[in-house]
Amino acid sequence: MKRAGVVGSPISHSISPVFQQAALDALDIGALYSPYDVPPAELSAFVERLREPGWLGVNVTIPHKQAVLPLLDSVSPAARTLGAVNTIVVRESGLQGENTDVDGFLRSLRESGFAPAGSAAAVLGSGGAARAVVAALCSAGAQSVTVFARRLDRAETLAAQLSEHCGVRVTAHLWTSGELAEAVQASQLVVNTTPIGMRGGPAPNRSPLPTGLLRTDHTVYDLVYNPGETPLLAAAARSGARAVGGLDMLVYQGAEAFELWTGAAAPIEIMKAAAREALRG
Ligand code: NAP
Repeated sequence: MKRAGVVGSPISHSISPVFQQAALDALDIGALYSPYDVPPAELSAFVERLREPGWLGVNVTIPHKQAVLPLLDSVSPAARTLGAVNTIVVRESGLQGENTDVDGFLRSLRESGFAPAGSAAAVLGSGGAARAVVAALCSAGAQSVTVFARRLDRAETLAAQLSEHCGVRVTAHLWTSGELAEAVQASQLVVNTTPIGMRGGPAPNRSPLPTGLLRTDHTVYDLVYNPGETPLLAAAARSGARAVGGLDMLVYQGAEAFELWTGAAAPIEIMKAAAREALRG
């Protein structure tokens, strides 16, 4: 039996085992996908185990996406630019780090009907997911990206690194500054990359945006996927804006990882159905 999985800590909330196993079974790959709860001190030993026979690879999630880079034999240019790996692929040449969040976000954004080229975007949060979102918007030709965070230094570092890399104007502001309303007014796209609104998170019943800022011509994308309708998405729907949740991104980043591990086309609809079912259950 081949092996794959997701490594993080904590990991019990992850629905990746459900939809990845459904995909492996649907294609008769003969592999078991398991969650691995690995604290930071044990990450290096866990990564070494991936060199044993039988491993296809693993997904990597909080808090290991950055710490895992120096433990790998090679890292793709996209993951290197972001400083974050969300997928390890076991190749004959060694362990390769990839980042599939960027394509996963872009694919789901485009499928929602939003064309990022030439757009202005406001991004809330400056963690790992924010880096993937900003890189995706830059690579898709956004005109400007404004990042809002509660730690200005972190947002400024993100803005400086990514704007230098992609040549798009990325600016950073404190969340509490007056610029938030102004940037949202000037944007066509608003993306929440914080856990605000997430079930079991720091503020499950709150929207990260004050009321009254959204318009019918806004697209509001919430990376949070549990619940399916977050307070932010509910506010967007009430304003007549286009509201997009994070479940498709989750499945698409997982599907790209699946394809890197197996070389087979991912059964997307089976993965989506299994993911929806896991959230209902
Ligand atoms: P992360 O690296 O920990 O970053 C979280 C960001 O949110 C940081 O900027 C953090 O600010 C900010 N934040 C956290 N709590 C906040 C609060 N109460 N008020 C204001 N800002 C707050 O986490 P991540 O990996 O970027 O993930 C963020 C969210 O995206 C999670 O809910 C995750 O489930 C979701 N996500 C979804 C997908 C998908 O496929 N749909 C993919 C990746 C992530 P500080 O820097 O000040 O702590």
